[in-house]
Amino acid sequence: MDNAHVHALVTGASRGIGRSVTQALLDSGARVIGTARSSAFPDAFSTHERFEGVHADLDDLAQMEERLRPLFRRDDPPRVLVNNAGVNEAAPMDQDDAPWLDNWRRTMRVNLEAPALLCKWALARWREGEGVLRSAAEDKPPVRGLLVNISSRAAYRGDTQQYASYAASKGGLVAFTKSVARDFGRYGISAYSIAPGFIDTDMAEEAVEVYGRDYLTSGMAFDRITSPEEVGELVAFLSSGRVPHMTGATFHINGGSYMN
Ligand code: NAP
Repeated sequence: MDNAHVHALVTGASRGIGRSVTQALLDSGARVIGTARSSAFPDAFSTHERFEGVHADLDDLAQMEERLRPLFRRDDPPRVLVNNAGVNEAAPMDQDDAPWLDNWRRTMRVNLEAPALLCKWALARWREGEGVLRSAAEDKPPVRGLLVNISSRAAYRGDTQQYASYAASKGGLVAFTKSVARDFGRYGISAYSIAPGFIDTDMAEEAVEVYGRDYLTSGMAFDRITSPEEVGELVAFLSSGRVPHMTGATFHINGGSYMN
């Protein structure tokens, strides 16, 4: 796949799925701006001529405005936005109300509000009408921007009660993505959701600590959980701008554990 025309912003590029997405995009020729909260980026990224790293906490509006918003005001802004960064923190229903609500609000800010705000900034720039991700080809209109929002299987089948805020945030992200898809296609902008099941990252390791390793593969068609590289390949394909009319779709990648 040749993504030399792609300039992408990937949140949560330091680890896990975001790291694999970034690697797949770089391998396919794209330029990538990767973000993280505080971790260092892998050396292979930091030394890469087509990678730029930015640290910003998505739970801090001032940092987002100072460090991320200007990226969309550049002469050559990213035209693919991959909202990947997210948190998955337990908040059991028998917890006191105050910490339980803290969890809900933090989860909504990082998993839903911050991606929506980044989309808002990106859409405002892409709608201006100058510049394209992919030029008009034959009878096809130009693609001006693409959103890829990383949701979760939990948005569709729910989660355990400890992770209800996480499932709700990811369900909200899917609904938000569909709203963008419905209204912005006319501007040459498409929006997709990806809904992974357990993926082999630090986040999944936290579930192992709570439920044990067998829990991750229960109900799957395979006896091992999904590798982040598969998600990376999927995002690299969607980012190419080859399937704009799949806008609004959710791509399920969960080893057959949930089929919609
Ligand atoms: P991960 O290994 O825990 O990595 C999380 C990434 O997000 C890191 O780069 C982290 O930056 C960044 N991040 C977290 N909180 C942030 C904040 N407040 N501000 C800025 N960046 C922040 O997670 P993952 O497993 O790769 O998950 C990536 C996405 O896939 C998430 O949205 C997750 O909900 C979704 N997902 C994952 C699974 C799974 O099983 N792994 C399943 C379904 C959906 P630092 O390195 O600086 O902390």
